[in-house]
Amino acid sequence: MTIIEKLQSAARPLISVEFFPPKAEAAQAAFDKEAAALTSLRPDFVSVTCGAGGSDAGPTLEIAKQLLSFGYETVMPHCTCVGSSRSELEARSDALVAQGFKNVMALRGDPPKGERFFKPEPDGFRYAAELVTFLRARHPQLCIGVAGYPEKHPEAYNAAEDIRHLKEKVDAGADFITTQLFLHNHVYFDFVEKCRAADITVPILPGLLPVISLKQIKRMRTFCEFHVPSRLLYDLKNAQDDAEKMERIGLYWAIEQIAELIEGGAPGIHLYLLNRAKTAFYPELFACLSRVRGQ
Ligand code: FAD
Repeated sequence: MTIIEKLQSAARPLISVEFFPPKAEAAQAAFDKEAAALTSLRPDFVSVTCGAGGSDAGPTLEIAKQLLSFGYETVMPHCTCVGSSRSELEARSDALVAQGFKNVMALRGDPPKGERFFKPEPDGFRYAAELVTFLRARHPQLCIGVAGYPEKHPEAYNAAEDIRHLKEKVDAGADFITTQLFLHNHVYFDFVEKCRAADITVPILPGLLPVISLKQIKRMRTFCEFHVPSRLLYDLKNAQDDAEKMERIGLYWAIEQIAELIEGGAPGIHLYLLNRAKTAFYPELFACLSRVRGQ
């Protein structure tokens, strides 16, 4: 089943988890351990980033295949335009389909490490919408996800322009949207409302990061735009010498977010767990996710 089929047919919200390929060979064993442990969460699908944060795009498909071998039923590789010519994207998307993947996340991508701005290859694509058009034409059967930004993409002039460009991705053939992380639920609900007003009708999966530290927030804010609620910031600052306490504060924040998002009609929860199984196995979060799954 493709992700859009799951979204359309599920009688309950979906749970999904995003992985990123281990950054070095030495990190592979740790990745295997975390990824294998997370199978017991039984997510409806998992995704694998491609060159996120400017890293190498190479290992995405290999890691996606590995996740299938761990027992994940539906694995979605990400595909970006970064450093890729049209013929490279032809080869990459053909390989993805030949290996049995039915879903892909189509992105422009982060600039390579050390570069501030995205530069398309001479015969590559400048925007994700062009990649969606290309994928839809070459592999009409693929289910295609795209990124949405409830607090706008950092390069966008304003939120209205960003939503116009999001609509271009959907009009080009995207089946669903996964959002960038946000810590205030109202930004998700406002975003969905604006998307619907702009005639974007596809499901919009909220992306959620259970925060583990102030340092993590600072790092994430170097490449994505999101506001940190003052109550959360205050509590984290008061606990900054106690890593375990900070993690619990972030965890309870995420649990509150999940409950409210589901109650407000979100079609699921996409978790940015950053390859860290420990977060999902705090009994409180595990129980909350089980409730979402109706168990
Ligand atoms: P686009 O949709 O192309 O938008 C990029 C910018 O261009 C936006 O500001 C948009 O408003 C603007 N724009 C779009 N079309 C036009 C136009 N016609 N004219 C003028 N401006 C336009 N990065 C990775 O490198 N690898 C990953 O695996 C990855 N996974 C992600 C998963 C999710 C769920 C999310 C939310 C983000 C992910 N990212 C990943 C980050 C993403 O690649 C960056 O945010 C990137 O800067 C933009 O990618 P995009 O696909 O949203 O680009």
